[in-house]
Amino acid sequence: MAKHYHNLIGGEWLPSQSGQTFQNLNPADHNDVIGDFPASSAADVALAVAAAKKAFATWRLVPAPKRAEILYRAGQLLTERKEEFARQMTREMGKVLAETRGDVQEAIDEAYYVAGEGRRLFGQTTPSELQNKFAMSIRMPVGVCAMITPWNFPMAIPSWKLFPALVSGNTCVIKPAEDTPLSTLNLVQTLMDAGLPPGVVNIVFGYGPEAGAPLVEHPDVRAVSFTGSSAVGSIVAQRAAANFKPVSLEMGGKNAMIVMDDANLDLALDGALWGAFGTTGQRCTATSRILLHKAITAEFTERLVARVKALTVGNGLDTNIEVGPQINSQQIETSTSYCQIAQAEGAKLLTGGSRLSKGPHANGTFFAPTVFGSVTADMRIAREEVFGPVVSLIEFSTFEEAIQIANSIDYGLSTSLYTKDVNRAFTAIRDLEAGITYINAPTIGAEVHLPFGGVKQTGNGHREGNGAIDFYTTWKSVYVDYS
Ligand code: ADP
Repeated sequence: MAKHYHNLIGGEWLPSQSGQTFQNLNPADHNDVIGDFPASSAADVALAVAAAKKAFATWRLVPAPKRAEILYRAGQLLTERKEEFARQMTREMGKVLAETRGDVQEAIDEAYYVAGEGRRLFGQTTPSELQNKFAMSIRMPVGVCAMITPWNFPMAIPSWKLFPALVSGNTCVIKPAEDTPLSTLNLVQTLMDAGLPPGVVNIVFGYGPEAGAPLVEHPDVRAVSFTGSSAVGSIVAQRAAANFKPVSLEMGGKNAMIVMDDANLDLALDGALWGAFGTTGQRCTATSRILLHKAITAEFTERLVARVKALTVGNGLDTNIEVGPQINSQQIETSTSYCQIAQAEGAKLLTGGSRLSKGPHANGTFFAPTVFGSVTADMRIAREEVFGPVVSLIEFSTFEEAIQIANSIDYGLSTSLYTKDVNRAFTAIRDLEAGITYINAPTIGAEVHLPFGGVKQTGNGHREGNGAIDFYTTWKSVYVDYS
């Protein structure tokens, strides 16, 4: 029997006012129904925002170190619940258990990091030009904050947004992705169990246009934090800007790994496998272009293809599975269509290229790990985000050409360079147009206490990680006249 879940509004679990629901399915086995969730609309959003506004009146007055204690306690509870939540996340999202444990761990890391920030919400004192005036600037919460989140890191990403907002004294309404509602519910339930007062975090489940859009537009929402596709991010940014709301945008990537002729190829191959096929390629930081120096193209390609062919694809809860399903059939269609486009443009399919639908893969949305060779920088497969287990190999002759190809796209999230040459490493750090550059490691994300974000079409700054408190606070300049 499918479970019935409700929105969390003002500390109460409420069905959507329309009574509409949607089903949450296991992407590895569509016969496994996780539950029904409310398909919320503007009326539910209005209730949630009203609850958050009411709670703000008291939450903003709780001393920041006390707010931080609740987050610390949530970190402890998440640690106790890590295995249970990781299993539930694999069931609803598909990525393998080792990765969902990592996802919960990121939320734990964020809780402890941000809990410390509760004692460090520093302001400034400034010498006044006026006599007997004491001048200072203090951080203030912004008010009700809206969070709109994707399905690929269903606990980590909500934690990056909620925890810094909460420690800063804001209240929140979160609209999680429709494919991963349970992991966000688990996170917020844990906050409540840790002592978060009712109404401080509210959840509205549902679809983007019906539930997300009214949340962005609600006049009592003072700031919006969005992670998802650039197409939706553009809509969110415009709607938020129309109401002068600050907006944090974390969106797509087309991340390049450059492998020089002096690289440690064993290391680079490990990095390529993890970067391209971890989370089934469904990461904004996924390695989707591997730029190979012509001296090592043949050897690297042969060794990579052999390892990709050996990857085990299946239900992420089973042992020895390395690559889980894609999240839904829409993502399978996207991967399929990019494989067709790549071949039509002249790229060479070296392995994979299609859906897996037989035997253990029959009831899920599985796609074969795919490698394209002979890709050139102008092809669509080299420029557009696939968000699936598909990687393109592009050959180059000089380091300068590699940097130019890496920078030739509209995105700028993560980049990596494999080399032993320290001069080239620092040149790449300076010249790669991206929010993150790794040397001798794949294009994965950053740890929770580093700035996280990208440039160009990827986003509008580093407003996650240690940039988050700046986003969730506003400054007040204060004068005290003691003459
Ligand atoms: P993804 O490919 O990660 O699903 P999307 O950009 O489609 O990326 O979705 C990210 C989040 O944005 C999801 O929670 C989704 O429901 C929400 N969303 C989609 N459309 C809109 C919209 N028009 N307004 C606000 N939120 C939206």
